[in-house]
Amino acid sequence: MEKSRGIYDLSREDIANALAGEPKYRQDQIWHSIYSTSLGIEGASTLPKALRLKLSEDPQFKTQLEEIERRQTDRGRTIKFLYAARDGSKIESVLMHYKSRSTLCVSSQAGCAMKCVFCATGQMGFKRHLSAGEIVEQVMAAKIECQNTFKDSISSSKTGRLSNIVFMGMGEPLANYDKLIKAIDKINNSVGIGIRHITVSTVGIVPGIIKLADEEVGVKLAISLHGADDKTRSHLVPISRRYGLDSLIEACHYYISKTKRRISFEWAMMSGINDSIDQAEKLANIAFSLGAHVNLIPLNPTPGYLVVGSSRDRIEDFANYLESNGVATTIRNTRGNDIAAACGQLAATNLEVGKTKVELAKK
Ligand code: SAH
Repeated sequence: MEKSRGIYDLSREDIANALAGEPKYRQDQIWHSIYSTSLGIEGASTLPKALRLKLSEDPQFKTQLEEIERRQTDRGRTIKFLYAARDGSKIESVLMHYKSRSTLCVSSQAGCAMKCVFCATGQMGFKRHLSAGEIVEQVMAAKIECQNTFKDSISSSKTGRLSNIVFMGMGEPLANYDKLIKAIDKINNSVGIGIRHITVSTVGIVPGIIKLADEEVGVKLAISLHGADDKTRSHLVPISRRYGLDSLIEACHYYISKTKRRISFEWAMMSGINDSIDQAEKLANIAFSLGAHVNLIPLNPTPGYLVVGSSRDRIEDFANYLESNGVATTIRNTRGNDIAAACGQLAATNLEVGKTKVELAKK
C-alpha cells in the first residue's frame, strides 16, 4: 500500500520527509498548492523548477484516480464520474448541484461486501478498501470541477461551491473505518468542508457507530434501516443477522446521547416488502423514540433484484403515517436515475454502456 501512496494520502510529515534538506517553508507552499489552489505539484509555481520536476515524477506526489468516463443528466446538474485506480479498480462518485449547495456522493470501497439485495454495488461484490487519499481525491476532483464550472458566476457566493459530502457511494464506510476517519479529517481540515456538512451513511455496523460516537468525529450519521423488524431487515440487509435491530437501536441511542445530534434513517420503498402500514407503525416507534428523521427513497431499479418500487401513492401514505405519528419524514428526490447514478445504482458500469457485472454475467 505504501508503495502506491498518492498525493492526497500524504501528511505534512510525509512531505517534510520527502523534502529533506529543503527550507521548511517549502512544506507550506506545497500544502497550499495541493489544497488551497488545487493545482497539485505541477502548479506549485513558488517552488524552484528543479524541485517541482523532481517531485512531480515521484509516484507519491501523483494523483491516484484517472477519470475514465463521465455522464451528465438533469441539464448538467447531476454528473457521475467513473474512475480507475492505479490497480484498475473502478469506483464512482456523483456530483449534484442544487440551488444553494453542491453535494458529492463519494465511494469508500471498490465494490461492497454487505450484499444488500436491492443495491447494485452489493450485487457486484467486494473488491477492496479505498485509501484515504483515494477518497479525498474524489472530493478534490469535484471541488476543481465546481470551480471550473462556476468560475464565471462568482456573484453568488454559494453557487457551485462544493459544500456537502455524503458517504453514500460504493462501499460501506464503517467497514473501512480507519481510512474513513483519515479521509474525513482531510476533507474537513485541508479541503475545508464543514464537519456538519459531511454525512456518513452506514448499513448499521454497530461497533463502528459506537466508535464514531466515542471519538467525537462530529459527522452527520445516516442509518440504512429498510426494515423495522429483524425478519424484514435481515432479508434486505444481511449484515443485520450479525447486528440485530435491538443492538442497532441501542447504538443509535448511544450515538445521540454522546453527540447530541439527530440521526436519520434511510428507507428504500419496496412494493410488498417494507411498505405496509405494519412496517410504518414499527418504524414510527423506533424513529420517534430516537427523535430520528426518516428519509424515504423511491427504490431505484437494479439488475439483480426484481422487486418493484412502491407506487408514489404508497410512498406518500407511508410518509403521512410517519408524519402523523410525530416523525419528521422526507421523500428523497432521486437524481441521476437515467445515468445509473441514483442511490444504490453505482456499480462501475462502463465500456458496455449501461450493463453491470451482474447483467454481463447473465449473458
Ligand atoms: N453502505 C452505506 C452506503 C450505501 S448507499 C449504507 O448502506 O448506508 C446509500 C443509500 O442508498 C443506502 O441507504 C442504501 O441502502 C440505499 N440504496 C442502495 N440501493 C438502493 C436502491 N436500489 N434504491 C434505493 N436506495 C438504495
